[in-house]
Amino acid sequence: MKEMMYSEFVELYESLAATSKRLEKVAIMAVFLKKLKEKGKSEWIFLLKGRVIPEYDSREIGISGQLTIKAIAKALGIPQETIVERYKKVGDLGVIAQELTEKKKQVTLFSKKLSVSNVFENIKKLVSIEGKGTVDKKMSLIAEIIGDASPNEAKYIVRTLLSDLRIGVADGIIRDSISLAFFPDEPEMNTKIQESYDLANDFSIVFQAAIKGKEEFKKITVTPGKPINVMLAVKAKDIDEAFEICGKPAAFEYKYDGFRLTIHKYHGEITLFTRRLENVSIQFPDVVKAIKENIKADSFILDAEVVGYDPKTKKYLPFQAISQRIKRKYYIEKLLSQLPVELNIFDVLYYNGQSTLELKFIDRRKIIEKIVSTRRLIIRPAKQIVTSDVKKAQEFYEESLEIGEEGVMIKKIDAPYQQGRKVGYMAKLKPELKDLDLVIVGAEYGSGKRGGWLTSYIVACKNQDEFLEIGKVSSGLKEIEGQEGATTYEEMTRLLKPLIEEEKGNYVKIKPKIVVSVTYQNIQKSPSYSSGYALRFPRIATYRPDKGIKEIESLKDIEKLTV
Ligand code: ATP
Repeated sequence: MKEMMYSEFVELYESLAATSKRLEKVAIMAVFLKKLKEKGKSEWIFLLKGRVIPEYDSREIGISGQLTIKAIAKALGIPQETIVERYKKVGDLGVIAQELTEKKKQVTLFSKKLSVSNVFENIKKLVSIEGKGTVDKKMSLIAEIIGDASPNEAKYIVRTLLSDLRIGVADGIIRDSISLAFFPDEPEMNTKIQESYDLANDFSIVFQAAIKGKEEFKKITVTPGKPINVMLAVKAKDIDEAFEICGKPAAFEYKYDGFRLTIHKYHGEITLFTRRLENVSIQFPDVVKAIKENIKADSFILDAEVVGYDPKTKKYLPFQAISQRIKRKYYIEKLLSQLPVELNIFDVLYYNGQSTLELKFIDRRKIIEKIVSTRRLIIRPAKQIVTSDVKKAQEFYEESLEIGEEGVMIKKIDAPYQQGRKVGYMAKLKPELKDLDLVIVGAEYGSGKRGGWLTSYIVACKNQDEFLEIGKVSSGLKEIEGQEGATTYEEMTRLLKPLIEEEKGNYVKIKPKIVVSVTYQNIQKSPSYSSGYALRFPRIATYRPDKGIKEIESLKDIEKLTV
């Protein structure tokens, strides 16, 4: 069998890019997959997503635009400045590599033909090179393949390096193509392929199974140490709907306002993954320690929510308070005491050598209760009740909000663990954030395009006869008539100008009269405003000419929202 050439991939990329129709893309890719089965390696399927390693592997090719420019320059023997200049105009390094290769080919006659293996292996090396001389080594590897590439090949090599193929292919298209190529008359295999992909997070394994035959899919299961996609919840609007989704009785748990971790233990080693499958074990030595000391089992995969609490008051904190812990890889010691976390274990996917995905939720919960010790503010099985009683469930929900959690999760007690967001397994119930009606008490003039208009507004709530500031909002209005948004800045300026009471530089104090509805992401305590609170990411939803200042939010309303 002849070696597979990179040009065959490039032809595929071009045909996929040439159509926006999903079904056509699937058909084209299915034909290609049959060819790949004959001539190639199953891991080359990653190239269809502009990757060279499985999706569960969060390492990156890690090539910046800058390095790519250097490598193109080196490979083609042209000054970097030429590429930078062109980049300012074209904005796509792939296309630039293509143009420049074209020019070069007119003067040089000979180059080697690129095999898929050449391209794949060189790019794969980029992922693992570390240490001294990394940049030079990476550049040589890239220059080597670009140097031998045809113009079109150069375009796609560069796009692969930058993880942006621009051919309109998502996971669903690859799944459907595998299905069409290998099981054209068995539509039920499409679901099987998706389920297997959810478990493996690796298209090469799924592709390999499809090649070998249906039975192979049975072998794809969870493996501790390898990250896995988690189960997500559908929304319920109230307790009744939660029961409709999950049946009666259902399990209710606090919806902790933290972030999700899957915790793997295998051969004595503990690894933590985020929902996006990033390994964050280094960032959380406290969590690793809590697990080592408080969970009795040789191997497992647990699903959990990590919640921050205030080290002084011991009260739970919203997610934002601890979000910096996810990213911080160095000097974390200090953070451990400043931003301590509690671990709430709510599911188990693997236990002592076996997958538990197929067990009923109540049986999985029994395992959790058996192996997880409860240590206040360190680790515990998620707080849970099982009930059919609407009133009891409602009380539990309110209790959760009372102590500062987000709401409740509702789980079907006899359901298996199901990855992804599907109806009938798990629901979430939390209060909808409603827009706040607030009054404008100050404003600032804009600059540039918005010069002459009042474009930032200080908004306030009321406390008896007083108005207390709660934030500054400058988005949501339209710049010009006809654009999406509430009112125009110009119109708002016209409304506010007659109400100006005082001017101080750029700032004007406004007589409270104009009421606006403001959306926001959350409310935080803040000394910056007289209410003691600040809206995060506020945005004007609408001007409310129908509302008077008596109808705006009170400080008490705001306090309730921040419990
Ligand atoms: P949201 O913004 O509401 O968290 P989401 O899209 O991030 O939504 P969903 O699956 O829809 O995620 O909501 C459930 C999330 O709530 C889970 O991903 C998990 O991180 C968190 N959570 C908190 N407590 C629990 C619990 N007891 N059981 C399951 N998930 C929980």
